[in-house]
Amino acid sequence: MEYQQLIERIFLETKSFAGKGKVASYIPALERISPDKYGISLINLQQDLFGVGDTAIPFSIQSISKVFTFTIAYSQLGAEIWKRIGREPSGTAFNSLVQLEYEHGIPRNPFINAGSIVVADILISLFPDPKQKLLEFVRTLAGDQNIYFNEDIALSEKETGHRNYALAHFMKSFGNIHNPVEKVLDFYFHQCSLELCTNALAKSFLFLANEGINPQNEEQIITSSQAKRLKALMLTSGLYNESGDFAFKVGMPAKSGVGGGIVAVIPNLLSIVTWSPPLNSMGNSVVGIEALERFTTYTGKSIF
Ligand code: GLN
Repeated sequence: MEYQQLIERIFLETKSFAGKGKVASYIPALERISPDKYGISLINLQQDLFGVGDTAIPFSIQSISKVFTFTIAYSQLGAEIWKRIGREPSGTAFNSLVQLEYEHGIPRNPFINAGSIVVADILISLFPDPKQKLLEFVRTLAGDQNIYFNEDIALSEKETGHRNYALAHFMKSFGNIHNPVEKVLDFYFHQCSLELCTNALAKSFLFLANEGINPQNEEQIITSSQAKRLKALMLTSGLYNESGDFAFKVGMPAKSGVGGGIVAVIPNLLSIVTWSPPLNSMGNSVVGIEALERFTTYTGKSIF
């Protein structure tokens, strides 16, 4: 299969869909990104890398970071983690508050904001310098030492992140946040501000396509059983309340972010990343969904 030709074709076919979406503006610093940026990167297990468009420009990965932080926490806590976070799709927006009250401060899954804020709290309890731990973790997975937080974006989100403050305080009232809310959200806003290009992001997710092993250095990041479960969560909750529709149309475990990135994997085969900032009303990249749907249609490869 000629992946390079295929992604070039998909790139050309889907570029114009950007006009149907809107770049995220609720975090003011994100609004400054050009809606015309577009890149696709694909890497297979043999580590052949294919790319088209803006594949070398670091962009704000936002909620995609939730997979990295959850991976670290899950590898440390194992099944204990399910005492504090659920594993059901929420069917509500990524920053929704409504379920938390009925469910006593236990977020539905690690990929909505509330879930990832609990994961941030766990990492703060586990590591003396969780930001450094996260940077080192992502740098190793991506094989790239030049990965940083974007302080402007972290600050911009801190100034406007009232919903995330509400979520964290609410969960603290139920005892599900152990550290000071300021500290937890400072870490959470920084994880969201991490910047990676599509090439680096594709590489950094290859361990999930490879039974939890980083193919670059053979390091077991999480067990194969944990990798299987994490991918199940990505399938059921990776695109918030559009996860069902994405599974229906695309059929790959994936995670999106409001920076316009989507990363998806096909187990034992590849990892693919799209980046195009304009979003639909669910907060997912319009072009990205269109491109990934074509990818599984044209290749006939999905997890189904
Ligand atoms: N930092 C964003 C927020 O907390 C992440 C949301 C997202 O990418 N869906 O609102």
